[in-house]
Amino acid sequence: MRRCFYLQVLVVIAALALVVTVAGCKGKRLISRDEEIRIGRQAGDEFEAQHGLDGDRQIRAMVSRIGADIARAAKPPDYPYDYRVLSDRQPNAVAFPGGKIYIFRGMVDAVDNNPDKIAWILAHETTHVARQHAVRRLERQLGQEIAIELLLGKKEDASKVAGIIGGLVLLDYGRDNEYEADRAGMAYAQQAGYDPTAAVAVLELFQEIQGRNPNDFEIMFATHPGNNDRINHAQGYLEQQGWSGSYYSP
Ligand SMILES: [Zn+2]
Repeated sequence: MRRCFYLQVLVVIAALALVVTVAGCKGKRLISRDEEIRIGRQAGDEFEAQHGLDGDRQIRAMVSRIGADIARAAKPPDYPYDYRVLSDRQPNAVAFPGGKIYIFRGMVDAVDNNPDKIAWILAHETTHVARQHAVRRLERQLGQEIAIELLLGKKEDASKVAGIIGGLVLLDYGRDNEYEADRAGMAYAQQAGYDPTAAVAVLELFQEIQGRNPNDFEIMFATHPGNNDRINHAQGYLEQQGWSGSYYSP
């Protein structure tokens, strides 16, 4: 099982090399901004087709309204953000490069439709887009040599590449990026008029869910750093900013 997972990761990394241009890119960005938006959109569309949009219009409208508030706070850089609800019952949320962001219905239910909590979750995901976490990780992982080898090999079709990116966004962004998304998420939420202390309540909820059902919790929050560290980190940031609210008061 584990081995299978690693193999999958290797396939993801290898195949993503096919979407980059190698020539003369030493030290420069491998993936242009337009390309980032284009491949992210395609991957998002495929992911959406697989999982399906949620049927509840009210919830969809609420998420897109909160998302629009967060998107305004997160600019610049100016990405074409688009926030949608998938019908999946797992508590999850994902962001695709370029601005497609999905929250699962299971996540909306887990936070009882609370706008402050949803705002922070969307803002956390928005940070992964705005700070280009996925694309940069991809660029770091792609050695030029590997990319050349792959480009000389069989060229995958675009939809397969999109599917692979769909897998990549579900993987761990790594400790520093997650902390950054937690912090900037609070800042965006605060700027957009939501209570940023909701972050603490959401992280506590995740800790509880994860404790109850560790295998079922493969999400944005199942990765390192551990939730305890993230709660402490979030509280420290709120204290430093002098922000208190309904969910946490320093
Ligand atoms: Zn994250």
